[in-house]
Amino acid sequence: MIRQFELVEKVKSYDPNADEKALNRAYVFSMKAHGTQKRASGDPYFSHPLEVAGILSDMRLDYSTIITALLHDTVEDTSVTLDDIQKLFGSEIAELVNGVTKLTKLEHQSIPTRQAENFRKLILAISNDVRILIVKLADRVHNMRTLSSLSSEEKRKRIAYETLKIYAPLAERIGIHQFKDELDDLAFKELNGEEREFILKRLAYLEQEGGRNIVQNIIAELNDVFRNNNLKVDISGRVKKPYSVWSKTRRKNIAFEQLADIMAFRILVDNKTECYRALGTIHDTYPAVSERFKDFISTPKPNNYQSLHTSIIGPNKQRIEIQIRTYDMHRVAEYGVAAHWQYKEDSKDERMNYPWLTGLLEILEQASGVEEFFEHTKLEMFQDQVFCFTPAGKLIPLPRGATPIDFAYAIHSDVGNHCVGVKINGHMAPLKLPLHNGDQVEITTSKSQTPSPSWERFVVTGKARAAIRKFIRTQQRDQFIELGRSILRKSFLYEELDYSDGILEHAFERFKTDAIEDIHALVGEGQITSYQVIRAIYPNFRSKKTPLALETIHLPAKTRDKDSAVSIRGLIPGMAVHYASCCHPLPGDQIVGVVMTGTGVKIHIITCAHLKDYAEEPERWIDVTWDQSEPQQLHIGRLLLTIVNKSEAVGVVTNVITRQNANIVNLKITHKSELFIEFTIDIEVYNIEHLENVIASLRANPLIKGVERVRN
Ligand code: MN
Repeated sequence: MIRQFELVEKVKSYDPNADEKALNRAYVFSMKAHGTQKRASGDPYFSHPLEVAGILSDMRLDYSTIITALLHDTVEDTSVTLDDIQKLFGSEIAELVNGVTKLTKLEHQSIPTRQAENFRKLILAISNDVRILIVKLADRVHNMRTLSSLSSEEKRKRIAYETLKIYAPLAERIGIHQFKDELDDLAFKELNGEEREFILKRLAYLEQEGGRNIVQNIIAELNDVFRNNNLKVDISGRVKKPYSVWSKTRRKNIAFEQLADIMAFRILVDNKTECYRALGTIHDTYPAVSERFKDFISTPKPNNYQSLHTSIIGPNKQRIEIQIRTYDMHRVAEYGVAAHWQYKEDSKDERMNYPWLTGLLEILEQASGVEEFFEHTKLEMFQDQVFCFTPAGKLIPLPRGATPIDFAYAIHSDVGNHCVGVKINGHMAPLKLPLHNGDQVEITTSKSQTPSPSWERFVVTGKARAAIRKFIRTQQRDQFIELGRSILRKSFLYEELDYSDGILEHAFERFKTDAIEDIHALVGEGQITSYQVIRAIYPNFRSKKTPLALETIHLPAKTRDKDSAVSIRGLIPGMAVHYASCCHPLPGDQIVGVVMTGTGVKIHIITCAHLKDYAEEPERWIDVTWDQSEPQQLHIGRLLLTIVNKSEAVGVVTNVITRQNANIVNLKITHKSELFIEFTIDIEVYNIEHLENVIASLRANPLIKGVERVRN
């Protein structure tokens, strides 16, 4: 365990401006606050914040970060308050500690797998100063190093799993590969210790094949090559980490023996020109595996990683991976964002190497001191955009939250209008899935595909939205025409009148038009009713039948005139047909349509109380039937739930609904007491039977006290 004066000396050695008194004060304050608390290992609790501070001082982080590390558990685990921290250490430290405390609180919830991505976003959103995240990751590293002292296996597995799914990817996202590698390895050790051992043995065997150290041999040979070419380089090599080997065998579904490049070599040079010279030398000497070449120097990764990657058939005829970069690029590769928070006597030019920092640089130049610099360098600055690639490697910048549909429209409006599917990083994915930095996006198109009104909910770019709206306006008219024609046919049939499109010519004058389609559209849109059309053609018309109205629709369907029902087959919801949000009708429900002026037909369940509003206007009623042929559409059903007010209850609801293959689209708490929470929840289901299955499985759970379908 590092001692007080050692820590202070270490920080001072790289940060001459470090506030020595504050560092000492933080050390003593944290030690006293944690008092006699013990870690699971039996060590004094204070050893933990001290180790975390040690990890961060190894990375040469500024002294405020080190103080935050020392204090990071005081607010959560001791009687210390944020006010105390504020008074003793000022507002910058108090805000950092507050941020870390918030992240610690999040840790106490267990995270379903599918929420990992949301959870990572949440963590990023809370870490509005990147140092908060850096401290939290160092905290996780130390907790993972000491994981074995936890006695509960279940707890160890859960922590390891979350590390793998949430914290390691976060470390990667901000480019701290040193943390990512260690977190991956420690988590893998806990979750899959035997496989890790096996891989380690196998790697060691391959490395020592024939009693020689292959890695050392290759380094020696590469050194010769560069010496002959008068290029000064630093070469290091290693076999890959067990977790990366393991996930590769899984991802590509290949056997261990088939893994081509289990050895990776890194060549460090002084400047960018030498990177390309070194690459030239390598490709000149050994055959390159061309599809594996990547130039992250000319196109840096969004987290600012820069390097040349190539694979060659190297010495010993072995396939090896080589990364070439400058010392500066290497520092960014290892420390990522943290590299910029390291104290160093940077020349201005050096900072200029990082293009994403130029914006910050302007602030820095105007700002009076380091504090103000940090004040402005909030994480969101790098978060309002995502950068994705086409299969050809073209970089497409999109706003945060953009989906494959946005991506498709960004390429071309034709691609957008006809997109049917997407592969993200080689895997099929839903079109509404938000994209992430670095995703490679491959859009599949089909001539028969057209935009759906629901797409508007999944796009964030103006270009996509405008194109979808334009298409829908055109298509909506077609839908009104189709619906209007169908309504007219049914009404004529119901009144025992002959219908043909031609007969509508007799109504041209009355509706000031000379096109049959216009009359169809007017009826479909609800501007006029079918009875107005009938009366325009037969001025003396008087219905001999009871108009479809409240009384008649309550009759069982089979006693009603079946043929008069309008099928809503083929009509796209959201265009000419809308489902009422008061009663959320589902296929299988008995339904009725009400013509709404200007928007088409709204479908209600026949028992919906809102129907009374139209009781006086029988002409607006339309008998409609479901079309239940494939492919089935998803509809929204609404439930009213009462659950026990316990943190795990919401998770139970989510799990049950997911297990039934339904999808939650909205959730709203309507009442909350100490004992119960009541809320409405909208879920996507195929039909009423599907919803009933969900209801039944919710009712089976003891934490769920009441489930009701909401019909209005
Ligand atoms: Mn901690």
